Amino acid sequence: MPAWRGIGKKLRELFGRRPIDEEFFLELEDAMIEADMGVRIAGEMTGALRATVRERTLATRDEILAELRSLLRGFLCVKEIALTPGRLNVLLILGVNGVGKTTTIAKLARHFQTVRGIEKILLVAGDTFRAAAIDQLSLLGERLGLPVIAQAPGSDPGSVIYDGIASATARGTELVIADTAGRLHNKEALVKELAKIDRIVRTRLDGGSYQRVLVLDATTGQNSLQQAEVFHKAVGIDSIVLAKYDSTAKGGMVVPICRELGIPFSFVGLGESLDDLAVFDGERYLDSLLGAP
Ligand code: GDP
Repeated sequence: MPAWRGIGKKLRELFGRRPIDEEFFLELEDAMIEADMGVRIAGEMTGALRATVRERTLATRDEILAELRSLLRGFLCVKEIALTPGRLNVLLILGVNGVGKTTTIAKLARHFQTVRGIEKILLVAGDTFRAAAIDQLSLLGERLGLPVIAQAPGSDPGSVIYDGIASATARGTELVIADTAGRLHNKEALVKELAKIDRIVRTRLDGGSYQRVLVLDATTGQNSLQQAEVFHKAVGIDSIVLAKYDSTAKGGMVVPICRELGIPFSFVGLGESLDDLAVFDGERYLDSLLGAP
């Protein structure tokens, strides 16, 4: 884990060396941009903070920190992935290659097995473009003791998902977690493919619940906002898992994604092992962003 994250270090240093003047707010704005919070949000946030500090004549470090925290809290969107009992639940996992998608599928399966007590889970190897992705998911399924529906590399992903849902319905499965390809030869092809898969799931669902979950890599910073936009436009994203949060000293991109797209964060990936997944906790996130103990 990085010793410092977000704007905590900078904040501490700023409070130590500056009065609360214009320069303070400018430096704070820079620190927010540096921590991946984006130019727009950093400007909006420091503008609001500056106005409140003046209006209410906040002067102490604690008062200002509390106000900043409250402003940030107002921007966050956090929501657990809720499953519908007694129904088939499908989680379609999306994200570009390398973000940690396959690992996250296994972590989610482990979470739903152990924390939520879901027994009948089925994994679907919907990334048919990479043989390695099919092998990786099959191996993880074995480790978790879960069935994996897969076809040969290069087969139609829509057909694998179709098979997966048919098999889940036949077995009385409660939860299907389906992988998807994260890269085709171009963005249009990816969007088209995902829209097709989305249609297949919707038509095969038969009253079940369906959620599209995007995995983002916390180390990719501002680029993750663009990724979220593309996937959200293609199929509509219900929930985001922030993988590799243990590997970044920044992590501020959660704020612009919530602010711009309003998609809630549900889980955070904190390492490579299957147990390194935590429910996204807004207050803990704010602690880490603001450098609270
Ligand atoms: P995919 O291509 O999106 O399916 O990505 P993978 O699941 O294969 O993961 C890519 C790499 O990221 C692997 O080396 C994983 O072990 C690693 N990884 C995935 N999630 C995390 C995480 O939360 N933290 C860390 N440190 N590494 C992760």
